[in-house]
Amino acid sequence: MSTDKRARAWVDVSPSSLRTNLQTIRESVGPGVRLLPMVKANAYGLGVREAVSALAPLDPWGFGVAAVEEGMELREVGVDKPILVCSPLPIGSYPAAVAAGLTPSVSDLDGLVALREACRESGSKTCFHLEIDTGMGRAGLDWRRVDEWGPKVEDLVDDGMTWEGCFTHFHSADQVGEGALDDQWRRLKETVDRLPAKPPASFVHACNSPGSLRRPDVAADMVRPGIFLYGGVAGAGLPAPSPVASLRARIVLLKEAPPGSTVGYGSTYTASGPERWATAAIGYGDGLPRLLSNRGEGVVRGRRVPIIGRVSMDVTVLDVTGVPDTELGDVVTFFGRSDGEEISLEEVADHAQTINYEVLTGLTRRLPRIWTDDVGY
Ligand SMILES: *Cc1c(COP(=O)(O)O)cnc(C)c1O
Repeated sequence: MSTDKRARAWVDVSPSSLRTNLQTIRESVGPGVRLLPMVKANAYGLGVREAVSALAPLDPWGFGVAAVEEGMELREVGVDKPILVCSPLPIGSYPAAVAAGLTPSVSDLDGLVALREACRESGSKTCFHLEIDTGMGRAGLDWRRVDEWGPKVEDLVDDGMTWEGCFTHFHSADQVGEGALDDQWRRLKETVDRLPAKPPASFVHACNSPGSLRRPDVAADMVRPGIFLYGGVAGAGLPAPSPVASLRARIVLLKEAPPGSTVGYGSTYTASGPERWATAAIGYGDGLPRLLSNRGEGVVRGRRVPIIGRVSMDVTVLDVTGVPDTELGDVVTFFGRSDGEEISLEEVADHAQTINYEVLTGLTRRLPRIWTDDVGY
């Protein structure tokens, strides 16, 4: 029986790089701004429990999730800081959110009514944040109609409910010179100013990773960084994060391929001369994008080699003719660092016609996430 988590394919994750990246955000926005690291979607696919404990020494104000279940999981592992559920909640989820002591974000009056009911029925208190839609369109109360909903919100807030914050989400903070961010910021400020009686403790927040790095002037009272923490470039012209995750697989077969040999479904690649092929134990069933077929690369012994043929569910073949000392059992790195060479998440995302976020969150549960700074092989 194999007990080696690095036997087949895995993700190495660096806790110290995760901390470095949050520290970079903190330095960008200044010490007075609360930090709400986003740990939704299993910390962008890398492992939420480990992410939360890795970040603990930096003592963030709280954590951001997208689902009540994600917040409940954090409570189960003993997180006692505020947990903000940043997406609109299914209307039936408010009781569970209140029971777990989560902080829902409220996007409409129906949600506020449901939250009030959940508090009344359980006799519990709750905090909530109001999301303001300033142009993202997917969540929040419309900034243009604050005079309609503002007084109603005031009326609906019971004694047991603490209206703790107001926030919006930028749609284009990753773009350079994007005037939309200023428009959205102005809309948020105007909305907050027009509220009938601002709750005294309420604070304002708007920035994701690119906002926190590009526009610390609108960091306001709190920032909500995600992708940058996990090693993703947050937008054009922004500082590179410290790489956090590396996707690796073991070479499980080496073969000499005579000219004319074909590889993979559809035989989309043919050896032009005598070649040496390596089968790596990873495929799209692990989250290696199938669009890397005949396009992506891996790093073997510090050198880049091409993926040949189609990525299958479980295995992927690389042409290692250029790395003659390749041996059975060698490690292939598909993104991340290896022996002084690096393939960025963004390069993989480009090949896969997607974004770094989707590459990370697409890693499947088949891959062990190995959280260590001591990658000793
Ligand atoms: C996911 C999310 C973030 C983090 O965004 P990044 O681009 O990953 O930094 C911040 N705020 C909200 C509301 C989100 O949903």
